Amino acid sequence: MRIVVKVGTSTLAHATGRMNIRHVEKLVKVLSDLKNAGHEIILVSSGAIGMGVGKLGLGARPSDMATKQAAAAVGQCELMYTYDKLFAEYGHTVAQILLTGEDIKFDNRRENFENTLSRLIELQAVPVINENDTVETQEIAVGDNDTLSAEVACSAGADLLILLTDIDGLYTANPKTDKNAKLISVVEEITPQIEALGGNSGSTLGTGGMITKIKAAKIVGEKGIDMVIAHGENPSILYEITQGKSVGTLFKGKKA
Ligand code: GLU
Repeated sequence: MRIVVKVGTSTLAHATGRMNIRHVEKLVKVLSDLKNAGHEIILVSSGAIGMGVGKLGLGARPSDMATKQAAAAVGQCELMYTYDKLFAEYGHTVAQILLTGEDIKFDNRRENFENTLSRLIELQAVPVINENDTVETQEIAVGDNDTLSAEVACSAGADLLILLTDIDGLYTANPKTDKNAKLISVVEEITPQIEALGGNSGSTLGTGGMITKIKAAKIVGEKGIDMVIAHGENPSILYEITQGKSVGTLFKGKKA
């Protein structure tokens, strides 16, 4: 299978913004193993701004654009250094791709990206993709990596998009405040009721929430691609997902 895995800042970093080494190491180990088993893996990784915040000792996510962009420049290095080192331990080569909204929006730029991506996959590399936050301004940004990963999955002609986050999946209510909230294991169709469940959950260091994840499911669903939301704390969950076991929330793509 060709699988796009998106991992959020809340999984990659502690609340301090410093790297969650245990999570990142486990993630890379499982992804390497899945690749060894014959799957094609594309990683969409957040964490640049969050880790820049941690490394620069800023304390909290900055609100001004210049500091955010500076933090992203610092954090992106840290991310790639770590991925390069850990994937290399398992004999895999990583490749960094940083995209702006315009690379997705304009056909000729999207085609360039798609050609590079498919060549990297042929060459057995693991593409690691993030938004190019350092040069991106609000007006031209994709804005969040849930949406970015959905666009990447479409461009890659992926079989599956997996969003790893800090919650088990989509619930019938907010599980942090409602103890009767139940996990929804399969979403056959994204109805207005499902969209209304998006609420506004999000972490302090990252950008996304349930709303952007449901939006991502809509984007890939139109192209017939399935999407799973699952908890990123234990990346072994990826084995179960690729074996088709019921984990987290599966959004079924439209079948022709
Ligand atoms: N591109 C952002 C980063 O690397 C993350 C965006 C998101 O979390 O959706 O910090």
